[in-house]
Amino acid sequence: MDYISKWRNVWQPDIKMQIRMRFALSLTREERSVSQPNNKTTRQRRRRRKNKDRERCRETCGERPTMRENMATVFQPSFLKMSQEDFATPLRNGKTFANPPSFKNWGGLPSGRDIFRFRFSETDHENVPKNASELDQTIPIKNLTKFESKSKLFASWLGHATVLVNIEGATVITDPIWAQRASFISVAGPKRYRPPPMKIEDLPKLDYGVISHDHYDHLDYEAVKKITEMNPSIRWFVPLGMKSWMICNGIQKISPSNADLITEMNWGESVKVKKDGKDFEIWCVPAQHWGQRGPFDRNHRLWSGWSVIGPTKRFYYSGDTGFCESEFRKIGDKLGPFDLAAIPIGAYEPNWFMKSQHINPEEAVSVHELIKSRMSIGIHWGTYHMGSYEHYLEPRDKLKTLMENREDLKHTKFITISPGEIWELK
Ligand SMILES: [Zn+2]
Repeated sequence: MDYISKWRNVWQPDIKMQIRMRFALSLTREERSVSQPNNKTTRQRRRRRKNKDRERCRETCGERPTMRENMATVFQPSFLKMSQEDFATPLRNGKTFANPPSFKNWGGLPSGRDIFRFRFSETDHENVPKNASELDQTIPIKNLTKFESKSKLFASWLGHATVLVNIEGATVITDPIWAQRASFISVAGPKRYRPPPMKIEDLPKLDYGVISHDHYDHLDYEAVKKITEMNPSIRWFVPLGMKSWMICNGIQKISPSNADLITEMNWGESVKVKKDGKDFEIWCVPAQHWGQRGPFDRNHRLWSGWSVIGPTKRFYYSGDTGFCESEFRKIGDKLGPFDLAAIPIGAYEPNWFMKSQHINPEEAVSVHELIKSRMSIGIHWGTYHMGSYEHYLEPRDKLKTLMENREDLKHTKFITISPGEIWELK
């Protein structure tokens, strides 16, 4: 295999960051600091980071990290309904989050040796055709200019983890990304090989946006900025730690009069919202993942899934996640059954390397079952070179075979749709 071109074209910032971070701030030391919060060096490091963050924030926009962010584990505004006895709580040490020990399948992030083994002893089967016309055959794009339907619940997949949903009149977008590369620079990083099926300008009026975590393939600054400009009354729901990022990056300044523009939440929290007189609840739910955007902010912002509960219909979006069975069961028991779910099915090979952070099609089917989904759409495949080694069409094909063989799930559906295709509840 041509490793040089692979590195050049498919370079994944997460992996590179992992190598850098291995030297700068070892994972074992970071993990140790979570379990020993009173350790002196941890306290010093936390103080140094806090000061640095405050300074950076003050320089860029004059804002300091929110009280909510710093006091997240002890201070809860009254409008956030807590139910942490039901869902797991992330570990928190200063600004750093971690998956709790109850996430049995979380094996930590790969070590430097794992990354070396992954890159140089595993075979890459991705094989995305270079030829665009071949891709037009295998993953056809349906150009979407108007997102409309008479159905009570309809949705479209706009590529990767971006899902546009209309649930009983409220329009929601998940992890909007239009970038050519999921990276902090435009010339390197995971490259898009299927275009977005809809121009960002053609998006309908959006009521809510949910963001699962800060990785570049889920948090696209330009898309968030543009959407906020187009929808000054939108409400963004983000996991803990992300509100100050949004403020520091000027998102609040786009719509200064919208006091509800950004709401950050912990796992198990929910917010009641109203749209056209109808009551909706937005839930932040656990996911097994991690976060990082720059070289020194690993796990400074939480990761999560989201659920939108309408008057009669329910939608779930898992974000990026490994298989944390007990939490999916709780999501199903507490918030299910879902009328629509968006569940990732790609970026899972080699399994030993990816399984902590991404589910594979088999696990995705288990998630579909555990959350009690009536209709799920497979996402997180067929859009970017994510650096994983499964064939680019394998997630879709495997999912189809798996569902065909599950007689017991015949009363439900777990499908894939073309980018831009509208699925609607009949
Ligand atoms: Zn991620």
